[in-house]
Amino acid sequence: MKKVILSLLTIAIATTVSAQEQKKEYPKPEKMNPGMTEFWTPQPKIVTPGDSDNKFCTAPSDAIVLFDGSNLNAWKSNRSGGEADWTVHDGVFTVDKTKGDIITKQSFGSFQLHIEWCVPENITGTGQARGNSGVFLQNKYEIQILDSYNNETYSNGQAGSVYKQVIPKANAMRKPGEWNVYDIIYNAPVFNADSTYKVHPTVTVIQNGVVLLNHFVIQGTTEYIGHPRVIPHGDGPIRLQMHGDKSEPISFRNIWLREL
Ligand code: MG
Repeated sequence: MKKVILSLLTIAIATTVSAQEQKKEYPKPEKMNPGMTEFWTPQPKIVTPGDSDNKFCTAPSDAIVLFDGSNLNAWKSNRSGGEADWTVHDGVFTVDKTKGDIITKQSFGSFQLHIEWCVPENITGTGQARGNSGVFLQNKYEIQILDSYNNETYSNGQAGSVYKQVIPKANAMRKPGEWNVYDIIYNAPVFNADSTYKVHPTVTVIQNGVVLLNHFVIQGTTEYIGHPRVIPHGDGPIRLQMHGDKSEPISFRNIWLREL
């Protein structure tokens, strides 16, 4: 009998504790702001790239040419879904800051991407507000484009970072008015049924012949505020960012991609 009473008493106490646990209010996590995911040290070492003679490498025979200097037919407006409405001139195209991002009409899985970009010689602005753009892989993961030549900002937001996820291994910027070249090798992710990564996306970024990222494991989407998010997706387009800063607009040329 004593044993039965003891057992009942134990159950009663356990139930009360459990109810109290459930009622207990945990403090709400602090609301995140942009500064919480910015890392300012270390700054990447400055590496002066070799001289390209400002000429570009034309597309190999099996590449999908996304821009050859003549038109933006491979692209569309991300805002309207209509024609890409940035300005094509002199064999390049320039961001129109009134028009929003542009994306490729075609979607891709894993690929090698070659893209060249240039900020104007007379660029103004500081930090993230100086020649900011970006190339989004599968429309989800931003490789930062920024004038990082003598322009301090948080290290994980410099040119060649997976935005706010990793500090590039070097700063290989050419100065404003000269063309920078990105060669990006990207492996698309695989997802589990529960929407987690089975295989994370990975990326290698080479700028002007200098490795900035070496098979970096992408953690999720590249967020301005807050942590990366894991959102299941299939093939996706390349997206180029129109950043709303007030600096003079950036230009692009010679864009091609090889599917892997
Ligand atoms: Mg950007």
